Amino acid sequence: MEPQGDDLMDRAAAAAALRVQADALRDCRACALCEGRTQVVFGVGDPVADLLFIGEGPGFNEDRQGEPFVGQAGKLLTELLGSIGLRREDVYIANVVKCRPPDNRDPFPDEIAACSPQLMAQVQTIRPRVVCTLGRFATRLIAQTEAGMATVRGRVKATEVAGVPVLVFPVFHPAAALYTPANRDTLQEDFRKLRRLLDRGADALASGEPGGDQVQAASGSPTAPDSETAPPNAPSSPAASEGGARAEQLPLW
Ligand code: URA
Repeated sequence: MEPQGDDLMDRAAAAAALRVQADALRDCRACALCEGRTQVVFGVGDPVADLLFIGEGPGFNEDRQGEPFVGQAGKLLTELLGSIGLRREDVYIANVVKCRPPDNRDPFPDEIAACSPQLMAQVQTIRPRVVCTLGRFATRLIAQTEAGMATVRGRVKATEVAGVPVLVFPVFHPAAALYTPANRDTLQEDFRKLRRLLDRGADALASGEPGGDQVQAASGSPTAPDSETAPPNAPSSPAASEGGARAEQLPLW
């Protein structure tokens, strides 16, 4: 159904707030990444998305184009979204750091710390129900965990991010799946779980399950290899309802 009335107002207000935040960052010099960037890559998508993806940081293509996940890893992300009936414009996509680390190196802790308030402001504006963290940097920051990706991927954590109650759902970074078929299979499996989580997650929370520890979700227990090997309100899908009868349990962690 097309958004109407209050929903349209909410979307317009959130879009305006995000524009103000993006404008304020255009000349950001809060960390050394400003020296090498072409532009700040703020984020893109539905300003009131139910589902927020958070990656690591812009690469070469993102730095040039000003949009997250437009390179090879982005192509895979777009494909994975399509496989669960979503388009990029149905979700919001952002990164832990908004400027490209030189030579695609990992972002440093002080760079992540400098950029976090901006990401938190985005979360407070978008107010997503589900935050899907792509890879270890986003997972560490958002889920406040030191656990490895192989342990937490495909599992749900009910928490608050910047005061917003969310379900955090970590998956491998798409870059880790580009040349590793096993990781790609794992990502595909986790996206099927993500679809189920979008369809059922709110119900699981409403039934008072946090602490009680199960969210109904897609099949399978974690089967990932032990590490990530490389650096790194959606519509209901028929597949999800079909799968409901045989759905297994997806643990909170
Ligand atoms: N990898 C990321 O983590 N973010 C991007 O925007 C692109 C690639």
